[in-house]
Order: sequence, then C-alpha cells, then structure tokens
Amino acid sequence: MVHAPVSTFDYVIAGGGSAGAVLASRLSEDDRVRVALIEAGGEAKAPLVQIPIGFARLVGHKNFDWRYEQEPDASIGGRRFLWSAGKLLGGSSSINGQVYIRGTKADFDHWARAGAKGWSFDEVLPYFLRSESWSGAPHPARGAHGPLSVAPLREVHPTCGVFLAACAAIGLPTLEDCNGLDMEGAFLTQVSQRDGWRCSTEKAYLRPARSRRNLHVITRAQVERIVFAGSRAVGVVYARGGELHQVKAAREVIISAGTIGSPAILMRSGIGRGAELQALGIAVVKDAPEVGKNLQEHCAVSQNRYVNRPTVNSQLGPLHMVGHAVKFLVARKGLLSSPTVHGMALARTRAGLDEPDVQLHFIPMAYDIEPESTSSASVRMPKEPTVTICSSLTHPKSRGRVMLGSDRRPRIVHQLLGDGGDVDTLVGAMKLIEHLFDSAAFAELAPRRRVPSRELPSDAHWEEFVREKAMIGYHPVGSCRMGCDGSAVVDPELRVNGVEGLRVVDASIMPRVTSTNTNATTIMIGEKAAELIRRPGR
Ligand SMILES: Cc1cc2nc3c(=O)[nH]c(=O)nc-3n(C[C@H](O)[C@H](O)[C@H](O)COP(=O)(O)OP(=O)(O)OC[C@H]3O[C@@H](n4cnc5c(N)ncnc54)[C@H](O)[C@@H]3O)c2cc1C
Repeated sequence: MVHAPVSTFDYVIAGGGSAGAVLASRLSEDDRVRVALIEAGGEAKAPLVQIPIGFARLVGHKNFDWRYEQEPDASIGGRRFLWSAGKLLGGSSSINGQVYIRGTKADFDHWARAGAKGWSFDEVLPYFLRSESWSGAPHPARGAHGPLSVAPLREVHPTCGVFLAACAAIGLPTLEDCNGLDMEGAFLTQVSQRDGWRCSTEKAYLRPARSRRNLHVITRAQVERIVFAGSRAVGVVYARGGELHQVKAAREVIISAGTIGSPAILMRSGIGRGAELQALGIAVVKDAPEVGKNLQEHCAVSQNRYVNRPTVNSQLGPLHMVGHAVKFLVARKGLLSSPTVHGMALARTRAGLDEPDVQLHFIPMAYDIEPESTSSASVRMPKEPTVTICSSLTHPKSRGRVMLGSDRRPRIVHQLLGDGGDVDTLVGAMKLIEHLFDSAAFAELAPRRRVPSRELPSDAHWEEFVREKAMIGYHPVGSCRMGCDGSAVVDPELRVNGVEGLRVVDASIMPRVTSTNTNATTIMIGEKAAELIRRPGR
C-alpha cells in the first residue's frame, strides 16, 4: 500500500549524487520554491568518505556502493563486474577516486554536432567555471569562486616525474594545467579535495544548503517509480523503512539516479521499450526503446612493473601505516591524502587520428583484481615496489544496455570489447605503454616485468592479454541519451521526450562519453540543468 502524499514540492529530485546534489543546492537558492531531494543511501559523514584514501574501502562496500550486477561478458571470456556507484549523499562523488578533469573541447563540440544543441565547449565552459574553486596557479579557464574545491596533488610520488619524462620523450608535452584548455599531453592529476579532505558534491553543494527551509532532504528513501497524471509527471513513490510513500511535484520531477539508476526508474515507471515493460507487467506510459541503451564505459587495461624505489606496495606495513596516519593528521599529506592516479596523459596510438584515442593513468603501485566468483572481484596487492600504467579508451565504440530484471532491479548487459576497433586501440595502447616502460627515462627505476610477466611477441598475444585483463573504468554514461532526434531519451533541455514535467539530469544523458573521467562533466551538467530549469517563464 502506498501512503497518501503528505507533501507537495515544486521540484522533486530522485538521487542526490554528483548531479542531484548540485541541482538541489542551486534550485533551492530561490527561497520561493520548495525542493525535495530523495536519496536511496544515507548521510556522507563516515571518516572513510572524508579521508581521500577511503575510496579503497568504499568501492564494493555493501553500505556505500550499489554494486550493480552485470551479465557475463562474452567479449572478455565471460567475466563480469559489479559496477560500482555511490549509494549515499554525494553519490559516486562520495566514493570516487577524486580525479578532477574536464572533457576535451572536441568532446563537447562533438555532442553539439550530434544534436545536443547548446552543449558545445564554449557553451558549457561557463558552468565548469561556475562550479569550481581552483587553488592552483590562476588561469583564465579556471574558476575561483565555485562551491567545489579543486586542488593540485598535495604530494606527488617521486616516480611520477619519470612517467612525465618518458611521455615527453615520445612527444607528449608536459602540460602545466590539464584543465587549462589544451589537454593533449601528459600532466599531474588534479583532485576534488579541500585542505586534503575529499570534496564531494555533498560537501561542496548540499551541506551548505541543508539549513534552507525550502530544501527537504529525505535519505534512505528509494524511488520506485514516477507518478503520472495522464502523460504529466506529478510525483514519485519511494520506499522507506519497509513502507511506500508518495510526494507530489507541482512543477517537475527530476531523475538524477545515475547511469544505471535513472533508466531503471524510467522503465519501472512505464517509459522504455513497450513490449519488454509489458512482459514485466508494467503499464506503458511512453514507448521509448532507447531508454537504457547507448551505455558506454571506459574499458581499461593495465601493465605493471617492479621498480627499485619504494612505492605504495612496499609501504603498507604496520609501522608505515602509523607514519602515514601521523603525516595525514599533521600535514594532510602522504598516502592517506592520495588519489590512486598521480599522473595522466591523453595520447594517440597511431597517426591520422583527429583526437587522442587513449587516456594513460600512472599509478605508483600495483594491484591485481582477482575474480572470486563469476559475479564478484577482490583486490590483492603485491608487497614489492611496483608501478602501473593503465590505459583506457577515450571513445569506446562498444555499447551496452541497462535492462530491468524480473525483480525490476537494473541488470547491465555490456560487451566491454564487443567492437574489434576497441580491441585494436587497446593493443596499440599496450605497445605504447611497453615503449614508455622501456624508455631511457624509466631506466633509472630499473623496471622489471610483472604484468605481463614476459615479452609478448605478437598482436595476437596482446589481444589475448587485453581480453584477459580488460576491466571497467567506473565511468558509465549514455543510457538516457540527449539529442534532437525523436528517439533520444531527453532533449537538449534534458526533458524526457513524450511526457511532460520530467527531466533526467546526470551522467546518463551524455550522448558520447568524454575522453576523460566523468565527474567534473557531470557536475557541469547539474549546473547547466539548474539554469535551464530556472529560466524565466518556466
Ligand atoms: C569507484 C568510482 C571511482 C570513480 N573515480 C572517478 C574519478 O576519480 N574522477 C572522475 O571524474 N570520475 C570518477 N568516477 C565517475 C564519477 O564519479 C561519476 O561519473 C559521477 O559521480 C556520476 O554522477 P551521477 O550524478 O550521474 O550519479 P551518482 O553520483 O552515482 O548519483 C546517483 C545518486 O542517485 C542515488 N540513487 C540511485 N537510485 C536511486 C533510487 N532509486 N532512488 C533514490 N536514489 C537513487 C544514488 O544513491 C546516488 O546518490 C568514479 C566512479 C566510481 C563509481
């Protein structure tokens, strides 16, 4: 039984993650409107969430991670992953690796050409600027007064200089500021952190807004479906404490439940492929076959080598850990303040490309993902000093789908390497990484092979390696594609096509995944959506 609606708000937002928290904060700046934010997870106060290194424990944590299930992926030998996504205020920005990097100019100009009118680079840059407070060297393309604190690394691992030098030797210039417009080259990671603590959207946007009387945040409340009056969204039903409740939306319902969660809510509400919904006993509100389709993920493959300098792997003993804790408490530096990735590069695996086709990630440690069973994975860390260079595809061609299972929970169907071109690019990337490890710059670290353990003699061997080691990049997007065409799930103002009073605002609307990590872009989406929604006359 659903309890009768107790309250009416102007805007009801489902999901308080990277985009949802931005939206709740920006919309409630106007004290004439009432905003409800309904979040399935809890508060984001745990120390694990605040301390940067906490992500190592948060990923896969039953209390903080949705661990969405994937069907076996035939393109990688039937392996499958639990797709992580934050289940707490701040969403994935509360559990992520804190790398702060925008998409490239070409990424957004491509969106605009593909039908996302109003989303070219020049049109989205103001929203990136609005969101951030960059504490590094000032630059005209950086924001200084936004809610989200972005900072240079507080301490760069010494081996990272070798990575940058090796990149320079193969023609990848070292960029002073990877978010300073030109992004092709190698650079140090920037992080969403404030004074050495994680800066999620919960901390940056939501926390300061919580005292507003017109913002009502309901946690541990899972949105089951949207309520329609005809074809107009007028509220949502959510489950909390074992009971179903209802809230009404006088103006709009906004779904911000992430790339896996948002299409699932739409489908449970009758917006999706009609025949499939009917088979699940769901009344069709709008036959929208693209809902859940166009799923993209930054497929990634790593190589690592033993080195002759201490790295994170060799500094995890009990005494070292005491040292790390003291360093963090005193100076907010060291391992506990560190993201995984210290250096990056945007590179091309071959000549003749319009844009970089791979992103490289330099990690001053190695870890092995051990399949525990068909549906789960665990991480094992060697004790010897080791460094990793990982490569992800900037623009994977493989596409997947979010579907509903018979229990009406989301199921992910994806072939990470379903496209032969993606495999070829990753094989090229593996050779590029070999080249970097074997360069004169790396010689000072005396790198010895670990993964792979021997020289691979042919492309066919590299392909086997790529398929065996490929993993998710934690950047799913695209399942509620934005576009001008009728089959797009949302229009360029993020309104769901075919119904009224309903938008989707989160990473799921990206028509094509950005070349790089997706959090900064999702926050930009939240900022731009807030302005679209607040525009006079609406
Ligand atoms: C482990 C991990 C590491 C990452 N590392 C980085 C990184 O270093 N840098 C980077 O740029 N990007 C990174 N990302 C990606 C980035 O964090 C995401 O792209 C971004 O946070 C997506 O934002 P979103 O608003 O679309 O979804 P989310 O932030 O996931 O928010 C969705 C919210 O909706 C809630 N929700 C879902 N379903 C329901 C429901 N039915 N009812 C109510 N609430 C619901 C969720 O609990 C969550 O709070 C990482 C992601 C993960 C998971």
